[in-house]
Amino acid sequence: MRGNKVRQGINNIVILTGAGVSAESGIDTFRSAGGLWEQHKVEDVATPEAFARDPDLVLRFYDMRRERIQQVEPNAAHYALARLDAAWSGNLLLVTQNVDDLHERAGTQRLLHMHGEHLNAWCSACDERHLWRGTLIDRPACPACGIAGQLRPDIVWFGEMPYRMDEIYHALNHADLFVSIGTSGAVYPAAGLVREARKKGIKTLELNLEPSHGASWFEESRHGPATELVPAWVEEMLGG
Ligand code: NAD
Repeated sequence: MRGNKVRQGINNIVILTGAGVSAESGIDTFRSAGGLWEQHKVEDVATPEAFARDPDLVLRFYDMRRERIQQVEPNAAHYALARLDAAWSGNLLLVTQNVDDLHERAGTQRLLHMHGEHLNAWCSACDERHLWRGTLIDRPACPACGIAGQLRPDIVWFGEMPYRMDEIYHALNHADLFVSIGTSGAVYPAAGLVREARKKGIKTLELNLEPSHGASWFEESRHGPATELVPAWVEEMLGG
């Protein structure tokens, strides 16, 4: 799949991104640290059980990550995807597993955060979500209902249902091409989207530093850093 051929018969694109797309901006991926996040096991910080057991640890962990994402900048892969979004006349949906805001800061508009967002706080008392740049460890009051201590990070933890799955499957049902970028293919249901795509006969392409767990499901895989692979692929798609 090269040059013009890549565009043959392709109108509608679904792109799935993971932590690898933000790695070169300076945000740790999960797998790269041997399954540890900032020295924490995932089950100690990214599950509802962990939050119930030790809310201070979980809130501090996410406060730190929320602060970190505000210190970094989008990279060439984020900007290339934003360029594709702006120029592509067919349908396009960028589904990200990332909870950082680097895709939107680069300018992508047709974007869906299936695992939530660091910069949102969610009130378990009134169910409202708020843009949140500060900390939650100090148990601030919800700006909507005024109740203190009920705001949690708006992150889909392991064991919780990802957001907007109906929209994702709808877009995939109408897609001609599914592209997976910078994801290990270890976290479901995102990791299962390539199989859905193959069942429907959609073209599939993986762009990742190394073969992912689901690499054999892709018709084509290209391996290398996202800041090189993604701009090159976008140029092909836009006929550069
Ligand atoms: P992951 O950590 O499991 O896998 C990252 C993948 O990216 C790996 O396969 C790795 O080889 C690849 N990679 C690393 N550096 C790369 C680079 N420079 N260019 C291209 N590929 C590169 O991440 P995942 O698959 O997204 O799943 C883990 C979960 O962790 C997701 O649910 C996600 O929400 C969460 N997470 C999010 C962020 C973020 O928002 N930036 C960061 C870490 C984890």
